Amino acid sequence: MWGQMTGIRPVKIASALLEKGASREEIIEYYMKNYEVSYEKAELCFNVAKVEEPIAGSIRKNGVSIYIGIPFCPTRCLYCSFVTNGAGRTGKYIPDYLDCLAREIEYVGEILKNNGNVVESVYIGGGTPTTLSAEQLRFLFQKIRGGFDLSNVREYTVEAGRPDTITRDKLIAISDFGIDRISINPQSMNEKTLKIIGRNHTSQDIIDAYHLARECGIKNINMDIIAGLPDETFEEFKYTVEKVEELSPDDTTVHTMSIKRSSRLNEMLDKYTLTDGSEIRKMVDFAAEYLKGAGKHPYYLYRQKNMLGNFENVGYSKPGFESLYNIFIMEEIQSIISLGGGGVTKTVDRETGRIERIFNVKEPKDYIERIDEMLSRKDVLKNINKND
Ligand code: SF4
Repeated sequence: MWGQMTGIRPVKIASALLEKGASREEIIEYYMKNYEVSYEKAELCFNVAKVEEPIAGSIRKNGVSIYIGIPFCPTRCLYCSFVTNGAGRTGKYIPDYLDCLAREIEYVGEILKNNGNVVESVYIGGGTPTTLSAEQLRFLFQKIRGGFDLSNVREYTVEAGRPDTITRDKLIAISDFGIDRISINPQSMNEKTLKIIGRNHTSQDIIDAYHLARECGIKNINMDIIAGLPDETFEEFKYTVEKVEELSPDDTTVHTMSIKRSSRLNEMLDKYTLTDGSEIRKMVDFAAEYLKGAGKHPYYLYRQKNMLGNFENVGYSKPGFESLYNIFIMEEIQSIISLGGGGVTKTVDRETGRIERIFNVKEPKDYIERIDEMLSRKDVLKNINKND
């Protein structure tokens, strides 16, 4: 297992060693000797670093990625600690929120243009961005198109996590604006679990949303699942993996349940049966083998605090469908400029490895009220990754 390794980005070590010319054996041994990491986890880090290596090498010196946060969801999942708000309660903020976001897009777009930065990936996350109506999505996409030069974008993602927010109109809007990657996140394909975790949809809704997305021309679809959801057995998790892979998404991320301090789950732990470490191990091992059999390879990996059994989250993709954004953010190899409530901008100096952060306030209401301050916080971007 992970031995003494505590960081959330264990692959960084393998990447650094690869850069210095270390061999596979040397890298695996390094993890095992210095951190008492098991052979299989050390090998997993090496394998991920190998997939990431050419992608990291393809980043432009003056390249940046853009993250746009939409902190609204239809309801709040049991395990969620995100500031996301059930749109029922805070939906009234959405129009003003979008207006402020439009201002931030324009402001930051201008800075990046003056810097000579090249936008390489755009990621609209949340929350659930598809909580917005098709019209609101089109407004947002139009602002992004107007604010940034998208001619060098290599990947453009919209999270459409909750199938109950996905409609044909929204998918057509996504497709019309050249967005080539979406996430549809089932987490589980078991009806009982979907109810427990507070989702307002069935597993059939997930399947329907997936087919609709393909029909609307979405080429790259990611699906997230979670090992160790409350009251789920190995058999139920296995069923989820099999059902999801029947759809053949291009990218499947296998998360391990983590108990977030401010989640509803944490307040009601006595109501649920949590999966023990050996069962989680069976789940993640099964998923790894099954996804390998489906032609996918692990391409990014991270760990979180309070994960059941101290495991990891791993993204598996078909070759050529690795998410650039996921790699950039996890390995901290490109500046990510984050806009919207809760956005955390990270500028990465690739020469020195120095990372600086700029925080936006989290709550939509605060973001709207303090938008001028959020804009001025972005002024420090005037010096990043210039045309060198
Ligand atoms: S969809 Fe994601 S962000 Fe929204 S409530 Fe569920 S876990 Fe939280």
